[in-house]
Amino acid sequence: MLCAKCGGVLCVDGRSVSDLAFSGYSGGRYFCVMGCGDVWIKELAAEPEPPMLSERLERRKGQHHTVRHIICLDCHQPTDTLGSYTQRCIPCRVVRHREQERERARRTRQRHHAAVA
Ligand SMILES: [Zn+2]
Ligand SMILES: [Zn+2]
Repeated sequence: MLCAKCGGVLCVDGRSVSDLAFSGYSGGRYFCVMGCGDVWIKELAAEPEPPMLSERLERRKGQHHTVRHIICLDCHQPTDTLGSYTQRCIPCRVVRHREQERERARRTRQRHHAAVA
């Protein structure tokens, strides 16, 4: 890798390499020792992450989100949730979401009519 301006050898910033590797990319920040600037080389790592690692990540995620047992506010059925603020079971949340969507669509239509009139 050579500098586009002075033709000197580019050095690689070791920290950027490990940063990219951590997020699943290969490459890093190459900088010119003469101070012409730097260039980022970033490629999706050819090798997929070993399954071991993602498994470990999954497990770590599971520890962060403790399952809460709640009583749904709408149907009053006991349910498990990972969300810290969740107060409803999944079917009820889906229903609510759909109603909110419909309500929003209705309001949008009304606003549109008002604008036309
Ligand atoms: Zn240079
Ligand atoms: Zn419910």
